[in-house]
Amino acid sequence: MPDPLSLLRHVFGYRSFRPGQEPLVTALLEGRDALGVMPTGAGKSLCYQIPALAREGVTLVVSPLISLMKDQVDALRESGVAAEALHSALPEGEWPRILRRLRTESPCLLYVAPERLETPFFLQVLESLWVNLFVVDEAHCVSQWGHDFRPSYLRIPEALARLSHRPPLGAFTATATPEVREDIVLRLGLRDPLVLSTGFDRPNLSFRVERPRDKKAFLRDFLGPRGSRSGIVYCATRKAVEEVCAFLRDRGVGAVRYHAGLEDEEREANQEAFVRDRAPVMVATNAFGMGIDKSDVRFVVHYNMPLSLDGYYQEAGRAGRDGERSECLLLYAPGDVATARFLVGQAEGEEARRQGFRKLQAMVDYCHTPRCLRGTLLRYFGDRDVPERCGNCGSCDDGTELRDATLETKMVLSC
Ligand code: ADP
Ligand code: MG
Repeated sequence: MPDPLSLLRHVFGYRSFRPGQEPLVTALLEGRDALGVMPTGAGKSLCYQIPALAREGVTLVVSPLISLMKDQVDALRESGVAAEALHSALPEGEWPRILRRLRTESPCLLYVAPERLETPFFLQVLESLWVNLFVVDEAHCVSQWGHDFRPSYLRIPEALARLSHRPPLGAFTATATPEVREDIVLRLGLRDPLVLSTGFDRPNLSFRVERPRDKKAFLRDFLGPRGSRSGIVYCATRKAVEEVCAFLRDRGVGAVRYHAGLEDEEREANQEAFVRDRAPVMVATNAFGMGIDKSDVRFVVHYNMPLSLDGYYQEAGRAGRDGERSECLLLYAPGDVATARFLVGQAEGEEARRQGFRKLQAMVDYCHTPRCLRGTLLRYFGDRDVPERCGNCGSCDDGTELRDATLETKMVLSC
């Protein structure tokens, strides 16, 4: 069996493992279940791709987005690794070729959309494959307490049960509070897993919360000195995306928009324009971002308060993946709380709503805290020994101004 370090060097061309990678690789190689919690850009893919190559047979990877799967498969093929993807955008005519390859080529990685696990045909296919490693990427999607719940992720244990023998199960996510972590272990049925979290700090990101009277004007003034640097402006609703994007374009900012209400073609064209640096600013709902491979995003502005710190940190974390200094700015208005409360109140089930309000409370607290913002985020995600002051956030920069926790902070809890 090729050893992990030589695979890292010769297949992927990297010199050494990054923090967390080696223990996760070893666990999966030794047949142990594992949950890897590492920030975006930390290199979670290699944690299962290397064991996939070191083991015989098929490695099945459940991945939530077609674009994400395509990028991974393309990158693997470029490194000379056999990889395929099965999803709804694939013409049926392609199936026989892929199945033949999966049965004859080893090792091979197969990426599948979670929805595939619900089709009887695919479950039958699974029974006929030699699946030697089962991987769940973006594993927080299995938890209703997370921010990207995908019901089909709940079908994963069923798919596992179809296999002739149970392979080691590896789960990976960038965002998991201790309770979401427990939920992942429980719902996926991880057995005595190695749970490894590398910590959540992203020292190159600065965090700031502002309460401008006029958000649009504030945003315009913020963007001005940043010229043609790339950034994302997240809005809570499609309508806000339309308004903010039009406002910026009227003022000469090269902004494009992205939300689920647009035609696929426009969404793809706008994403492409942003990734290829033809449009510096992307104005989007949270439909945009997962799996976008752009490392030089210099700022992420939240035009509205998100529903949870989980979602906030995931989105803000798309800034600065290249390690360069980048800014995360949240524009807060008390009115955001009412909108957020309404949205959380729409959730199905009392328990989900209770959790939702608890998360929302933590989000609102973040907007009001006089304490270090980074520290507040890191403690929320369960990091220990967090310093009182980071020296690189809105609270640490101007420690004299203590924001006041006013009425609307308490509103969330009292519902
Ligand atoms: P994540 O899934 O954790 O967000 P990825 O797996 O997409 O991150 O990896 C992010 C980037 O880091 C990729 O370009 C990957 O090739 C690179 N990378 C991963 N591991 C290493 C390593 N050990 N040395 C150098 N680069 C690495
Ligand atoms: Mg990833």
